[in-house]
Amino acid sequence: MGLLYTKMKIFHYRDKLDSLSPDVKTITPPVQIRIKPTNICSHNCRYCAYRTENLQLGKNMDRSSHIPKAKIMELMDDVINMDVKAITFSGGGDPFCYPYLTDAVKLLAGSQVKFASLTNGSRLKGEVAEIFAHCATWLRVSMDGWDDESYSYYRGVGKGEFTAVMDNMEKFRKLGGKCYLGVVLIIDEYNSSRVFESIRKLKNIGVSNVKVSPCIVSNSGLENNNYHKPFFKGVKEQISKAVEFLGDENFEIFDAYHELDGKFDKKYTWCPYIQILPVIGADLNVYSCQDKAYNLDNGLIGSIRDRRFSEYWFSDKSRFYMINPSTACNHHCVSNQKNRMLMEYFNADKEHLDFV
Ligand code: SF4
Repeated sequence: MGLLYTKMKIFHYRDKLDSLSPDVKTITPPVQIRIKPTNICSHNCRYCAYRTENLQLGKNMDRSSHIPKAKIMELMDDVINMDVKAITFSGGGDPFCYPYLTDAVKLLAGSQVKFASLTNGSRLKGEVAEIFAHCATWLRVSMDGWDDESYSYYRGVGKGEFTAVMDNMEKFRKLGGKCYLGVVLIIDEYNSSRVFESIRKLKNIGVSNVKVSPCIVSNSGLENNNYHKPFFKGVKEQISKAVEFLGDENFEIFDAYHELDGKFDKKYTWCPYIQILPVIGADLNVYSCQDKAYNLDNGLIGSIRDRRFSEYWFSDKSRFYMINPSTACNHHCVSNQKNRMLMEYFNADKEHLDFV
């Protein structure tokens, strides 16, 4: 298997790269769209960025919003016809709590558009699990607790839910199919000594990949680092041990447990990734990115409430430059390193390009 998390994927889309600059009139479809079909969730995670008051993510989110059935089907038609390459379903809420997810992915399964989803795993069963197992590219389940008691502490769910979700994942693997099942393990103070143990349990049920990520507790990079500092080294040691003793050709451990310094300040004045990977919310608004979803003041770039997505996307390129990251994005940004790399690519001096 090739590299799953490389930042270089966008360089495989030459037409997209050539269309990104404000100096070019052409608009090309997004490569990928993140769709938040519902804000309803069956869990209530204590650190959930959408429900935590002090994080900018989700600050204008209405917890009851969901995309109406006719609109999601129209949207699926659009992404297929626009030749969008991939759709990721994500929260707000849990996409598997969305009553029309099965209808939507049935359409995608019969098309060229690849799809994937994030989920808490509680509803990973039945027909929708079958479709994902055989037709989706990947599925990523979020985890934190390491047993029923700790899982209930994190998620405000009844005892037994951890066992049920682990069981759902194990059965999902047994459905066969091509879907790559991963877990994102969110690390905070409480589970910081359980990292190796959790990764081992996940390997034992047949998960293919575990991505270890820090719990984001603040909009400030420094505050995040200070929070993780007391247990940072211990977590890193456990990840290294897991890579050494548990990693193999069928089980990958991806270390995304990094300090966040330097990720929050940005020097560029327009964001390439808005045109590459926008977000459509359950409120039918279009947002610049995952980190600004449900931010009406500085993440909103349009709405598809009264028009089709395809009509919206191709009608006005100026909206893709209305957010200035150097002033509006001084917070966590998952695309920052990719944006910086693209800016370096665009800023190469044309007179000197040949001197490679
Ligand atoms: S720079 Fe980052 S946070 Fe700002 S709009 Fe772009 S992807 Fe979003």
